[in-house]
Order: sequence, then C-alpha cells, then structure tokens
Amino acid sequence: MTLRVLILGGTTEGRELAKVLAEQPDVSVLSSLAGAVPKPRLPVGQVRIGGFGGVDGLRAALAEIDVVVDATHPFAQGMSANAAAACATPLPDGRRIPLLRLERPAWPVEDGWHLAATHEQAAELAADLGKRPFVTVGRNELARYLPALGGCAVLARMVQAPDLVAPDAWRIITSRGPYTFDGDLAIMREHGTDVLVTKNSGGHFTRPKMDVARELGIPCVVVERPHPADGVETVSDVDEAAAWVLRQR
Ligand code: NAP
Repeated sequence: MTLRVLILGGTTEGRELAKVLAEQPDVSVLSSLAGAVPKPRLPVGQVRIGGFGGVDGLRAALAEIDVVVDATHPFAQGMSANAAAACATPLPDGRRIPLLRLERPAWPVEDGWHLAATHEQAAELAADLGKRPFVTVGRNELARYLPALGGCAVLARMVQAPDLVAPDAWRIITSRGPYTFDGDLAIMREHGTDVLVTKNSGGHFTRPKMDVARELGIPCVVVERPHPADGVETVSDVDEAAAWVLRQR
C-alpha cells in the first residue's frame, strides 16, 4: 500500500525531504505551501498552495493522508500549532495521523548578541544600540518595529514588500536568499549599519549577515524562537525525518 505523506513546507528542509521521499517506492508526497510569496521555489512532486482553513480544514484534508511532517519555518508558529492540534486526536474515520516536526537547528548564541523574546523588545533593543538598523525579520513583523524605530534610518530586507507605509527614513529592499558574506558586507557598509536585527532562523541561507556583523563588531539583536508545540516528536535533520516517515509504512 502507498504511504501518503503530507509535508507542510515553505522551507529548504521541506523541499529536501520531498526530494528524498519522492525516490522511495510506495510513498506519495504532497507538499503544502502557504502561498505567501509569489513564484515560490517548488518542491518536486505534488504541490498544493494556500491555507487549509484552520485546524478543521487541515483535519478534513488529512482524510487523504497517512503521515504529516511539519517542515515549516521555525517561526511559522500558527501552522505548527494547527498541525499539532489536527493530529492530536483521531479523525472521524478513527485514524490518528502521526506527526513529525522537522526543524533546523537554531544558531548558537554568540558574544555580542542581544536576545529578544518579542519583536517589540527587539525593536527597543535596536533603538538603544544604534541609529541605522539593518532589519531582517520578514514582512509580517515589520509593523511591530515602527513605534521604536520609526525615526531611525532603517534598512529592511525581505522577500516581498510589506503592506505598511514605511517612514521616509526607512529603505526597503526585496530579495530572496541565499546571501553571501561579500554581498551582505557591501549592503551593510553602504547603509552604514550600526545594529543588525534578525530572527534566530538558523540554517546557511541567511547566515552571512551575522558573520559580517561579527567581523565589523556590529551588535546583533536576535529574536528567539517561539516555543514548540507540546508533545510533537522533533528532528533537525532531513535524513532522520525521511527515516521516521519510512518507519510509518
Ligand atoms: P504561520 O503564521 O504559521 O501560518 C499562518 C497561516 O498560513 C496558517 O494558519 C495556514 O493557514 C497558512 N500556512 C502556513 N504555512 C502553510 C503551509 N506550509 N501550507 C498551507 N498553509 C500554510 O506562517 P508564516 O510564518 O506566515 O509562514 C508562512 C509560510 O512561509 C510557512 O509555510 C513557512 O514555512 C514559510 N516561511 C516562513 C518564514 C517566517 O519567518 N515566518 C520564513 C520563511 C518561510 P490556515 O490556517 O488557513 O491553514
């Protein structure tokens, strides 16, 4: 019998897992993307795009699924909570769907980092530490930086321009990683960055700005990861996730 796997994706890890599983016999993979960015990088295999409509919508979709891997971004808290809730109890057909969380490791804390539990706290810290922040926290969170950083010469980088009307002193650039040390060095020098603000996303794609900050002695304000959903088995490695999936056959 074919094992039907749903990968909640939008990440490199999600795409890598889809590729590994697509090569396995008797496994069918459906990757799900939020549809938050135009022209997303598509995983191999079947793809669906758009929200499920909350926990109930996801549970309805699970009627055609045997196993779920939540490979969403470490900060995609809403989707992870929905997946945990949807898989916590049996479906109307009596099956309880196994759920695995695949989450890349966080960057280890370094000297020169200022940790923030919330974006508001990150904004306050950045305002204390500099006047020319380089803010790389994503379009959805940018409005939370307006109260503290509205008067600073913010350079904000994100995949897609935000909906908000940015203050005149702000510059918004849109681009998608992976980034390089030399590229980020040039951007931060040209801007005159004196404090970097980022989420602790982990991974290699967005790491160079941190290395540039360390090289230039620029303080980093780092938003800590949200708490993981309770009771969900978690791995940090794609091969481990694939092995877990194959054990469910
Ligand atoms: P979120 O706040 O956790 O999710 C908001 C809603 O978007 C969810 O309730 C769900 O809608 C829908 N959604 C999210 N991920 C989905 C998926 N893979 N498939 C189908 N629907 C999904 O998510 P977010 O932080 O806005 O991130 C959206 C997507 O971008 C995620 O897939 C994530 O992996 C990717 N991403 C996020 C970040 C980040 O920093 N947050 C960075 C890189 C990539 P319904 O309730 O209607 O199902």
